[in-house]
Amino acid sequence: MNLESLYQELILQHHRHPKNRGSIETPSVEIAMKNPVCGDEITLQLAVEDGVVTAARFTGQGCSISQASASMMTQRIEGRTLEETRSLARLFTRLMHGDAEAANDRSLGDLRALTGVAKFPRRVKCALLAWNALDEAEKALDSPPTDP
Ligand code: ZN
Repeated sequence: MNLESLYQELILQHHRHPKNRGSIETPSVEIAMKNPVCGDEITLQLAVEDGVVTAARFTGQGCSISQASASMMTQRIEGRTLEETRSLARLFTRLMHGDAEAANDRSLGDLRALTGVAKFPRRVKCALLAWNALDEAEKALDSPPTDP
């Protein structure tokens, strides 16, 4: 099995059997995002304690790329600090811009299966949807609502 078909298989596996699909009873933050170009929808929930993502869950629908990316992302960010998830997001964005160095970075784990998506600008939006939600979630955490 070559690398490309292995990657294809990983994407389908995450699409058919997504990790961390579901919801958190009392999330620290919840962000819903849409990709109108493809019709993908993601709602991301995070539980954060002392700057560490203790749980990441998502619900949504859309193409295999968008859902697999969300599944792989939540799997990768659980147990990490917000700072670590930020650098992972930067690395993944570089991967989506065709950065060869990022494509060889093992810290991306299964996410490297999405390497080939970089060749298709329309699909890059699908792959980045969950990450845009993560970015918004982190912004929301940075500026918690003030008490009345
Ligand atoms: Zn899509």
